[in-house]
Amino acid sequence: MTRTVYVNGEYLPETEAKVSIFDRGFLMADAVYEVTSVLDGKLIDFEGHAVRLKRSLDELQMAEPCSKDELLEIHRKLVELNSITEGLVYLQVTRGSDGDRDFVFPSADTKPTLVLFTQNKPGLADNPAAKKGAKIISIEDIRWGRRDIKTVQLLYPSMGKMMAKAAGCDDAWMIEDGYVTEGTSNNAYIVKNGKIVTRPLSNDILHGITRKAVLRMATEAQMEVEERLFTIDEAKEADEAFTTSASAFVMPVVEIDGVALGDGTPGPIATRLREIYLDESLKAAI
Ligand code: PLP
Repeated sequence: MTRTVYVNGEYLPETEAKVSIFDRGFLMADAVYEVTSVLDGKLIDFEGHAVRLKRSLDELQMAEPCSKDELLEIHRKLVELNSITEGLVYLQVTRGSDGDRDFVFPSADTKPTLVLFTQNKPGLADNPAAKKGAKIISIEDIRWGRRDIKTVQLLYPSMGKMMAKAAGCDDAWMIEDGYVTEGTSNNAYIVKNGKIVTRPLSNDILHGITRKAVLRMATEAQMEVEERLFTIDEAKEADEAFTTSASAFVMPVVEIDGVALGDGTPGPIATRLREIYLDESLKAAI
């Protein structure tokens, strides 16, 4: 089935949607993005994504393509037009183009490019992978220094996923100066003696929307949370581990670099947090 997508004010069949070859998103990865989950036909944490999008745009002195209310309307319309019950809405804003290639930004009044499309993912919430748990490898973190900005520079994370796949695993955690930064497309956590440990926010990691919600829910559920750096060796000795992201929610990790965590099955804290997150997020979905 041909999807209906959104490009710069128009809803079009995906085969008819076009962006200029001079667009800076294409030529320079001069673009930011968000991915919002859809469960039960409703948007999960739209507000969180809208706030982070504004922050990414501000950090790059990029113009806002439209208001938050207009963005919400576009999201909802695409979900409806494409009959999405479970899936994702991908949004990308680029600095646009003034019709040529130049390292210098085009003038500030250049119109940004706004593209949104849906991905249909039946079974997103009841994902069998979450019952099995993920096997991860560790790789060096060689990304740029502003990982807090959600840019489309995803080549290294993409290579990381391929390295994991080549090793027969599901994903990779990245290591910088001996400490785990985050997963290729998720935030990383370990659990030891009932305490959840995760890296504090800084420019070194993406400020996950799911991370914020899950840490709040964990605290509300009387779980102990500590935000500090941790090494991959500490992770291998943890009782359990997990990742969070808007598209995979809470994903248990059962193996790191070939070392099984606990009994090698999803841990109780990760499993409980996944349940709480899905439950609470669905109630608040719009
Ligand atoms: N870290 C990285 C590098 C990511 O790419 C993502 C999501 O794409 C996350 C963390 C998780 O962020 P969120 O929970 O907002 O999806």
